[in-house]
Amino acid sequence: MLEASFPAALQYQPDPVVLDAKMAEAKAKLLESIKRSVYVYRVDCGGCNGCEIEIFGTITAAFDAERFGIKVVPSPRHADVLVYTGAVTRAMRMPALRAYHAAPDPKIVVSYGACGCTGGIFHDNYCVWGGTDKILPVDVFIPGCPPTPAQTIYGFAVALGLLDQKLHASHHVEEPGFAAPLAFPDVPYKVRVAIEREARALSGYRWGKEIADEFLDVLDAGGADVLGAVDALIEREPDPRRAEVLSALRRVLMAKVVA
Ligand code: SF4
Repeated sequence: MLEASFPAALQYQPDPVVLDAKMAEAKAKLLESIKRSVYVYRVDCGGCNGCEIEIFGTITAAFDAERFGIKVVPSPRHADVLVYTGAVTRAMRMPALRAYHAAPDPKIVVSYGACGCTGGIFHDNYCVWGGTDKILPVDVFIPGCPPTPAQTIYGFAVALGLLDQKLHASHHVEEPGFAAPLAFPDVPYKVRVAIEREARALSGYRWGKEIADEFLDVLDAGGADVLGAVDALIEREPDPRRAEVLSALRRVLMAKVVA
């Protein structure tokens, strides 16, 4: 790059924010003794959006970071923790600094993902300053491209001392030769798949699975009169919407058995 061939003194460098001793001490105390929920504000400085997808995975139902008291807020004014994702681009340097100055002191800065930590795959791009530490004092680095939700929660837990307070590790060791039991082994594979697909198409992923399991339970139990057992299941279903789905599964079963 042409710019890199100029003497260092002539090259434009971002001035990183430097903490004074008093603030550094207050921050160290916060990191050591935070015993309540933490409010997190996220700033995307110029990544590919992969990190954002993992952060949303972390805060939504499956991983549910809120159960550990990690709460995402819509304004830096309420934030204890600022999470910077993506490499710091020239265009985002000022907004990133504005968010930093808007958050009340003492605040914790987390640099998230390979791009946030080092500039990542964009590190030598003409419009990139580098990682978050090029402009801000970073307390915690969470590496990964992107970090998984589990890594993200673990990173926060380590950073905020939540590990001792709220998280407890458990290690599962599988016996050699262990095989997970097959669900409904007596129902032919193609019938199982067709029933699950139909149920999920009609009722959604979660409820469809539940209805399909109920239906397959009856098939798996077998007996001389399987169709009679299916009809009895439909008959005793009090919810007309579920009964309709069960009837549709019966039609799928008939089509598969006839086929
Ligand atoms: S670390 Fe990976 S996933 Fe995250 S912004 Fe950079 S390239 Fe995208």
